[in-house]
Amino acid sequence: MTPGLSQQPQEAADAAPPELSLVIPVYNESAGLDALFERLLPILAAAASFEIVMVNDGSGDDTLPRLLQRQQAVPQLRVIDLSRNFGKEAALTAGLWHCRGACAITLDADLQDPPELIPQMLDKWREGYETVVAVHAERNTDTFLRRVFSHAFYFLLNAVSDMRFVPNAGDFRLLDRVVIEAFLSLPERTRYNKGLFAWVGFRQHLIEHERPLRASGASSFGFRRLLRLAVEGITSFSSFPLRLWTYIGMLIAGASFFYGSYILLRTVVFGIDVPGYASLIVAVMFFGGINLLSIGVLGEYVGRIFMESKQRPLYVVRRLHEPGPAGALPPARRR
Ligand code: UDP
Ligand code: MG
Repeated sequence: MTPGLSQQPQEAADAAPPELSLVIPVYNESAGLDALFERLLPILAAAASFEIVMVNDGSGDDTLPRLLQRQQAVPQLRVIDLSRNFGKEAALTAGLWHCRGACAITLDADLQDPPELIPQMLDKWREGYETVVAVHAERNTDTFLRRVFSHAFYFLLNAVSDMRFVPNAGDFRLLDRVVIEAFLSLPERTRYNKGLFAWVGFRQHLIEHERPLRASGASSFGFRRLLRLAVEGITSFSSFPLRLWTYIGMLIAGASFFYGSYILLRTVVFGIDVPGYASLIVAVMFFGGINLLSIGVLGEYVGRIFMESKQRPLYVVRRLHEPGPAGALPPARRR
């Protein structure tokens, strides 16, 4: 199954694959690119044979021209230019689809994932771990509110799904080729990457590290975007929100049976009692609210089915900019 709409580069596929692919999604990161390369390149040169796959996720600034300029000096740099902003999860998938390494490390372009961890990750990979995940020791670089929501989210996610999710594990991780292939074989369109990596399994090693502040620019994950990701994570990996309403329905039905019996008995013993407008309106509103809520949850899942049934690719590639004489490959075509 092809996750995206693009063409695998023939020239690149012919060359010997490197040991390590670095997959980096970039969205309006122009200001930080120089610093990124300055820190990354010496570490990579010492660590392994490598390629860098950068996915330009529809940046509105001069990220792309700067990457192409950089390509003149860095022959290991391959640039995938997406046709618009598809979001980080899709951009990462595009990079993983095109990378050729025996393993890949995915990291953010803003230096929040310290490249100094790369040799350590490679060591663990050589020891036999198929996945190495960098976990932030404490999210002290995030705002208080974001920390609270993050804790609540992981608690909820672990409570309602059958899988174990490691809190504070970001997208800074090493993936063996088998993990990449397994990940790419998953056909769903709604992609919560962290969950998909948890689902495919394999031996996993965790490395703790402090997460520094963003080197430059601003985070593109505001509250709304994070909330959407959280809802996606929960609805993709659990049907508990659907089942919950069955339990609530049973509870309410049980309670109303007993309350009904009580009213019946009271009417038989004491006669008809007319007042009760307040309790009636409260009950009507309460059940109206519950109904709407449960329909909303149902809608969330129906929406997922709708999105999946359209079978659209996850992303569209405008051009693959390969280094060397081949240069830019023709625009994307369905494989
Ligand atoms: N990113 C992307 N597409 C987007 C948003 C972000 O490719 O639509 C990239 C961004 O360039 C960076 C990484 O994803 O390399 C993480 O983004 P950000 O720093 O905004 O997220 P945060 O660190 O706040 O979670
Ligand atoms: Mg960041």
